[in-house]
Amino acid sequence: MTGRGDVVDTAMTVEDFLRNIDAVRTRIDNAALRADRDPAEIRLLPVSKTVPEDRLRLAIAAGCHELGENKVQEARRKHAALIDEDVRWAIIGHLQTNKAKDVAAFASEFHALDSLRVAEALDRRLQALGRSLDVYVQVNTSGEESKYGLEPDELMGVLSELKNCTALNVRGLMTLAIFTDNRREVRACFSRLRTLRDRARETDPDLLGAELSMGMSGDFEIAIDEGATVVRVGQSIFGRRPTADSEYWPTSP
Ligand SMILES: *Cc1c(COP(=O)(O)O)cnc(C)c1O
Repeated sequence: MTGRGDVVDTAMTVEDFLRNIDAVRTRIDNAALRADRDPAEIRLLPVSKTVPEDRLRLAIAAGCHELGENKVQEARRKHAALIDEDVRWAIIGHLQTNKAKDVAAFASEFHALDSLRVAEALDRRLQALGRSLDVYVQVNTSGEESKYGLEPDELMGVLSELKNCTALNVRGLMTLAIFTDNRREVRACFSRLRTLRDRARETDPDLLGAELSMGMSGDFEIAIDEGATVVRVGQSIFGRRPTADSEYWPTSP
C-alpha cells in the first residue's frame, strides 16, 4: 500500500511548519504517556526527502535542526545549499558502498546500516577524516523478501564484527514495519525489533546502544507504544510527497 499515514497539506510557511510540528509532537507525547513512558525519551526526526531547499529554510526557522533524507545524493545537494543553516543531516535509506565517502563527509547519523561491507567502507572513510558517526543497524522485521535490512538471525554476528569499526557508534536498531492497514502486523514488527535489542544488550551491553529508530507518519504511535526512541516523520510535517514510496523501498503488490 502506498501513501499511507496521516498526511497534511503541503506546509508553505513557517506558521504551517510550527503548527504541524506541534501537532506531531503532541501526538508523540500523548502516545508516550499512554504507554507509561517519559515523552522526553522520544526524539522526532523530521524527514525532508523531496522537499526543496526554499521550504526547508522555513522548516529550519520553525525549529527543525535535524533532517532525515533517504537518498545520499539529494542529502548532499541540500547540505551544500543549506551550509549557512544550523542543520544536522541523517541518512535514513539504504546505502551503496560507493556512497560511503559522501556520508562520512557530511552526515551526523546513519539509520540504515545493513551490511558489514558498508560498515567497513564507512569506518575506513571516517577514520581517514578523523570523524565518527552514530549508526543504527537496520533489521528486516517484516519477513518481506524485498525489504532492506539484516535478517534477525544475522544480527548478533554483524554486531560483534561492528566492534572493529571504531569510528561507528552503534546507537541501536532501526526498522520499517510491514506496509499494511493491519495494525497487529505493524505492531509485531516493532515488537520484534525491541526484543532483538533487548536480547543483544543482555548478551553484551557493549554491542549496541538502547535506541530504537522506528515509526513513520502512519504508524509512529504504535512504534512508541512498542518502545521507539526515534520516530522518522515526513508527510505529517511537510505534506504529501509527490513521489511514490516505491522510489524508496519496494512495495508489496
Ligand atoms: C520517507 C521515510 C520515512 C518517513 O515517511 P513518512 O510517511 O513521510 O512519515 C521514514 N523512514 C524512512 C526510511 C523513509 O525513507
